[in-house]
Amino acid sequence: MSPASPPASPATPAVPAIPYGRQDLSAADIEAVVAVLRSDWLTQGPAVPRFEATLAARGGAAHAVAANSGTSALMLAYAALGIGPGTRVWTSPNTFVATANAAALAGADVDFIDIDPVTLNLCPERLAARLAVAERSGTLPDLVVPVHFAGRPCPMAACARLAARYGFRLVEDAAHALGAVGEDGPVGNGRHAAAVVYSFHPVKIVTTGEGGAVLCNDAALAQRLGELRSHGITRDPARMTAASEGDWYYEQTGPGWNFRMTDLQAALGASQLDRLDVFLARRRALAARYHDRLAGLPLERPLPDPRSAWHLYVVRLADAATRRRAFDALRAAGIGVNVHYRPVYLNPWWRARGFAPGHCPEAERYYAGALSLPLYPGLDDAQQEGIVARLAQVLT
Ligand SMILES: *Cc1c(COP(=O)(O)O)cnc(C)c1O
Repeated sequence: MSPASPPASPATPAVPAIPYGRQDLSAADIEAVVAVLRSDWLTQGPAVPRFEATLAARGGAAHAVAANSGTSALMLAYAALGIGPGTRVWTSPNTFVATANAAALAGADVDFIDIDPVTLNLCPERLAARLAVAERSGTLPDLVVPVHFAGRPCPMAACARLAARYGFRLVEDAAHALGAVGEDGPVGNGRHAAAVVYSFHPVKIVTTGEGGAVLCNDAALAQRLGELRSHGITRDPARMTAASEGDWYYEQTGPGWNFRMTDLQAALGASQLDRLDVFLARRRALAARYHDRLAGLPLERPLPDPRSAWHLYVVRLADAATRRRAFDALRAAGIGVNVHYRPVYLNPWWRARGFAPGHCPEAERYYAGALSLPLYPGLDDAQQEGIVARLAQVLT
């Protein structure tokens, strides 16, 4: 199996022979998109609500609102929950910049809570300690955003107990975790959170090209999300302040964006969801085999978890120098290893806002040795054995 490489040009960086993540498209997926191209609706048609219904059912939530990216889904969730200037949002430093960035763009004051060095997720004990301090200084957060890193579910019940005690809301960044099952059922059911956000970028669990969604159990919140997604416009008579002036009539109830997902994307997403269980089974099998094959090498393996979505398989090497050597050697061999994540606040924009090294020591220690090995449904057994052999060669 050799994935097609796009022609090299300044705009399209060379794809390693084996990338770290990759979409898996079937003939049925392609047919689903072509059918939309032949239909009357490229956007604002029936494919979007159909995808949303399937997604909500799969996630175990009452409502799903699809958006044109995971990032815009985060922006919708934050805005719908009233995050703006004068509010505080706390999240994990071990995430893609979008989680914090969307809150900063909303005008919130953002801070980071260090991770549990075993699960690599935001640590509830550290969160509790920071909340106790913030209560004394009158700086409690309005919203906390745990990230289900690599697809491993966060302990949401513990976060929810703290949310009840200190009066903040929770949004789950589940960009990695579609299909994961936590202590209280599928990540997506929002049992302990106001909203759960998925991403459908091609490296994620299922893809729509670009795309995302917010899941929630509150009909009023779902309505707000839908209006924010589409210019703040409503066509629901119950939401209007005046009588309809005719079939063309709509009202703008507030400011909003155009963050709509197209019908092409939604049809692709719905078709991809048909194979979600196949994708998850393959990811879990590959993770289990990595765990088995990497035993005895000088590295730390992730905790086995048959209920993680296994978006990423991250090993921890002894130190930054070893990680650099392994990264360079594997990349030179056409193996697309990667690093997830450099703590968000070490980026210059955050440094300019007062964050400094040492803010989250566990996240920084983790980052120094982290190496993501290729993991995606189309990775075959022989390729995986080759990756393990090459890594063993570099480390021993
Ligand atoms: C991918 C990702 C996002 C953003 O999703 P996009 O669809 O790429 O906008 C947000 N948070 C995390 C943790 C992600 O991995």
